[in-house]
Amino acid sequence: MKSHHIFGPVSSRRLGRSLGIDLVPFKTCTYNCVYCECGATTYRTTKREIFFPVKEVYTELTGFLSSSPILDYVTFSGSGEPTLSLSIGEVIRFLKDNFPSYRIAVLTNGSLLSDPDVRRDLLTADVVLPTLSTVVNQTFLKIHNPDPALSLDKILAGLVQFRNEYSGKIWLEVFVIPGLNTSNDELEGLQKIIRDINPDRVQLNTLDRPGTEEWVLPADRADLDRVETLLDFATAEKVERSPYRTLKTLYATEPVEQIRELLKRRPCTVRDLVSATGMHTAEVIKILNEIGATTDLLTKREARGLFYYIRE
Ligand code: SF4
Repeated sequence: MKSHHIFGPVSSRRLGRSLGIDLVPFKTCTYNCVYCECGATTYRTTKREIFFPVKEVYTELTGFLSSSPILDYVTFSGSGEPTLSLSIGEVIRFLKDNFPSYRIAVLTNGSLLSDPDVRRDLLTADVVLPTLSTVVNQTFLKIHNPDPALSLDKILAGLVQFRNEYSGKIWLEVFVIPGLNTSNDELEGLQKIIRDINPDRVQLNTLDRPGTEEWVLPADRADLDRVETLLDFATAEKVERSPYRTLKTLYATEPVEQIRELLKRRPCTVRDLVSATGMHTAEVIKILNEIGATTDLLTKREARGLFYYIRE
């Protein structure tokens, strides 16, 4: 079966072995972040929509989860901002009703949490991972290129409000970009609002794959240590770079389709693909050649190696 809405399981740096659910078309987001590993946003919006019939998603989830694969999380993520989908609450409920043993995670940029309907949709997820990288408006605009309808003040208030209403775990991502959000003033402001949000964890992340803008550089260990010290939050932790864990994979799709779907969503090195799929390196290279024969397979060399990706 060809999957359009589920992908992986992938080996996620923050969530372990994770089956992805993608409820928005490529590349639909409220932001157009300079570090986005999915490429530039082609549809920037704050309007929530039903992008696909939920029945398609239910069929794919049932087909995959009925065999009881071992997963750490089923994760809403993929080609943009998942809370833009009006179906997200319904799909979470479907998973809770039909596959209650799986934990559900939502990777979100947090920009729509000021909307009570979005907060309500996420209430039964087990963990929500919003991003907050600055409380300075100028920096916010520079990093995220947000839709003009968004206001940083409302986003911050939405995060605090969500904490008040949601009893699951909040793992707050701070995306560290050296020279942009690493000054003492920036970090002091962040520290204050993080205390108000009171997340269960603060996860310091940095560029691991090519971003949209070439000038965005990864933070090094010393940068991250400094940010960790200045934020002074008990559960702050650095997101380790790609773990290269080899996992025995139960394929959601055929191997070629699985790799194609991964490359459509984010650039990957051969090692990333080996790690995500559990395949042998030679097999991954063979599949890349096969995909390259019929598809415009793009490459980009970065510090971590040669990245492959597909843009549609
Ligand atoms: S990083 Fe996330 S929030 Fe930013 S543009 Fe990409 S998908 Fe949207």
